[in-house]
Amino acid sequence: MPEALLQLKNICYSYHSLSVETPALCNVSFHINPGEFVAIVGPSGCGKSTLLSIIAGLLEPEEGTIQFHNPDGSLHYPKIGYMLQRDHLFEWRTVYQNAVLGLEIGKKMTKENTDRVLQLMKDYDLYKFKDKKPSELSGGMKQRAALIRTLALNPQLLLLDEPFSALDYQTRLMVSADICQIIRKSGKTALLITHDLSEAVSLADRVIILSRRPATVKIEVPIHLTLTEDSPLASRNAPEFQYYFNLLWEALSDEKNETTGR
Ligand code: ADP
Repeated sequence: MPEALLQLKNICYSYHSLSVETPALCNVSFHINPGEFVAIVGPSGCGKSTLLSIIAGLLEPEEGTIQFHNPDGSLHYPKIGYMLQRDHLFEWRTVYQNAVLGLEIGKKMTKENTDRVLQLMKDYDLYKFKDKKPSELSGGMKQRAALIRTLALNPQLLLLDEPFSALDYQTRLMVSADICQIIRKSGKTALLITHDLSEAVSLADRVIILSRRPATVKIEVPIHLTLTEDSPLASRNAPEFQYYFNLLWEALSDEKNETTGR
């Protein structure tokens, strides 16, 4: 068994104001192996974004430990890429200038890094649009440009916070499949937050369902689909797809019913 890239043990976090305490996470434990694509699904407001902020180091857990391991087992803090719901491309910069923004801010505009960005743009059909403005791109191309900006910094772990939720359904199907394949080809480890179970089952190696707030891990299911064609779109037709969907749906519905009392 390889050492997990990321190991969370009994993570707890509450938000505090003068009058209220809002517990968001309670004893959250799970791991992610190197190269794995893990999806997290949970009821709205259960604490998913809080969890990502803790993993990204933006919030400090009140209890519990979070560890990142090198392949030799030693501890380190990895480079983390964060992709958000909206692409956040700047209209006054060209697509290329947007893609290298992180490199510019981090003062890492070396030839090696900019060549890598140009290669990614060639690999993912954006090269001929590199001098265009973001408004001239389709929704899917904008998301690809945002992903290239994230990959430009060569992160070891990608955090994806509902990156397809701003897209309409059909575009979302195409773009999520597209982005997932880019991530898999790049060999990156990824953690995807989504509220779409079909998306989670079709894209991920493992799906984690969180309980309602304060979130804890309700069920963790490794996904093994028999595929005739290796694509997330084709995986929706795999014979096991419905089984996984129903299993996870049941776990998720329990949580929603407990919240609404239905
Ligand atoms: P999710 O991403 O699952 O929708 P969040 O992690 O954003 O949930 O939020 C979890 C809970 O914590 C929610 O009830 C939310 O209202 C609350 N919360 C989030 N951010 C803050 C904050 N800065 N101050 C107080 N409460 C917050």
